[in-house]
Amino acid sequence: MNLELEYQLVKDFPWMKPGDSVETYEPYDAYGCECADGWYEVIRGFCTDVTNLYKEKGLPIGITVMQIKEKFGLIRIYVNVDDPEMYPVINKIIEKWEEASSRTCELCGTDGAICNKNGWLQVLCTDCSIEQDQWAKELNRKREEELAKIRAEKERLNER
Ligand SMILES: [Zn+2]
Repeated sequence: MNLELEYQLVKDFPWMKPGDSVETYEPYDAYGCECADGWYEVIRGFCTDVTNLYKEKGLPIGITVMQIKEKFGLIRIYVNVDDPEMYPVINKIIEKWEEASSRTCELCGTDGAICNKNGWLQVLCTDCSIEQDQWAKELNRKREEELAKIRAEKERLNER
């Protein structure tokens, strides 16, 4: 995710600061949110729910984000929870936002659906999906052009 969005996230949710409260060095500390910008609001939704949960309980926020990434098309949020009793509730929140990511275009954040792009699963809206297909077509066309050049060159050499 782009850095400006990550900074905004940490500004609004200080407990999301990478490397702030961990003894170990997790992927989140190194890479931040490993997904495209369209899921910014999904991540904010997760952060808001967690913040409200601890506020309701009158407790300081006791979770550490270990990794946020895209896997098999959906967002995955991995956390450490200080109090084991909080774990089921936190898990519910994570499931809720993983489910939300299945309906949110990872690229632009509008309504999307899971798409299969040559075996690669990604949640995309119609526009982003068309754009990706065109991009793939253009790549294929260039590849075909290169292959044709190579074939022609080989034929030319064989004719000698
Ligand atoms: Zn989109």
